[in-house]
Amino acid sequence: MSHASEWDAIVVGGGAAGLSAGVVLARTGIRIVLVEDRTPRNAPATHMHGFLSRDGMNPADLLQVGREEMIGFGGKLLAARADRVEQSTGGQFRVVLEEGSELIAPAVLLATGLRDEVPEIPGAKELWGTLVHHCPHCHGREVAGQRIAIIGGTHAPMSVHQAALMRRYTDDVVFYLNGIDLADHERDEFSAIGVTVVNDRVTRVRSSPEGALSILQESGAISTHDCAFVVPRMVPRDDAFEGLGLVRNGDTTWIDVGPTGRTSVGGVWAAGNLANPRAQVVTAAGEGSAAAIDMSGYLLAHDLGRAVNGESASWYV
Ligand SMILES: Cc1cc2nc3c(=O)[nH]c(=O)nc-3n(C[C@H](O)[C@H](O)[C@H](O)COP(=O)(O)OP(=O)(O)OC[C@H]3O[C@@H](n4cnc5c(N)ncnc54)[C@H](O)[C@@H]3O)c2cc1C
Repeated sequence: MSHASEWDAIVVGGGAAGLSAGVVLARTGIRIVLVEDRTPRNAPATHMHGFLSRDGMNPADLLQVGREEMIGFGGKLLAARADRVEQSTGGQFRVVLEEGSELIAPAVLLATGLRDEVPEIPGAKELWGTLVHHCPHCHGREVAGQRIAIIGGTHAPMSVHQAALMRRYTDDVVFYLNGIDLADHERDEFSAIGVTVVNDRVTRVRSSPEGALSILQESGAISTHDCAFVVPRMVPRDDAFEGLGLVRNGDTTWIDVGPTGRTSVGGVWAAGNLANPRAQVVTAAGEGSAAAIDMSGYLLAHDLGRAVNGESASWYV
């Protein structure tokens, strides 16, 4: 059996949530290790928007700066995939890495984000993050004034919302229902604000040689737009934590957390898209920071208990 390295805190996932927590924890002198397999959700995007003071920055550059800051404050970064996180003895948690080594600590932050399942429209996956988007608040302004398609599907209320919201950015919005049944009042609203509604199903999307987006329909019609918005199915990336038995929020698949990211298992926090599918990059970073500050207090209480028992901790003898 491999030897487990001991830490005060382990962070699993190094996106905005995990790295923000890593920076805050490292600054306190806590022995923190962050495990990151480098597959952030927004990897297909080359520009990030809506993050105060960083608008337009490449999201990969934001993470690189975060890694450097955390390491500069004494945090340890491991480029590895956590295979499983489980309870160990004495109130400790064990993180087993895919390559076999193990980490152990009394506090763990889970920040592995979510997976977007792009709708099953042929061509959509290939154009995800370039000509096919999902978030008007992230990318709406960048396509303002353009020819925008909204492609409906299985998430009717969100698609209806997207179609109306995108009209704020341009007067050329076409909503392909793609199987959605609109209520009369919704048709009236789209008519009143000038959104064109197309009843046809979409059979394929593809980029044109000029860099525009062609939408092929069941009727045989082909139309051209500058980009499209769809609604993906969002799934928490929680495969590695099944053994912890974390309580979910109501009847959803999202991990139930308190205001500072505490889960139903003492010593385990969750932050960012793993627990909150609505979190933007700035929100995820804030949640990571809040969780880290709470973890710092939790670890302090843990160490004070050890001190009165005559045991040492990493920061006093
Ligand atoms: C195409 C696209 C564009 C976007 N553009 C914007 C934008 O402009 N502005 C904005 O605010 N938001 C944007 N978003 C949303 C943004 O991606 C999320 O808000 C943000 O990524 C959430 O951060 P996070 O830290 O929770 O998750 P992530 O950024 O996904 O980070 C989770 C990290 O955990 C790691 N990980 C997962 N599982 C494991 C494991 N088992 N072991 C080790 N590591 C693991 C992954 O490598 C990943 O880096 C966009 C999303 C998409 C899909």
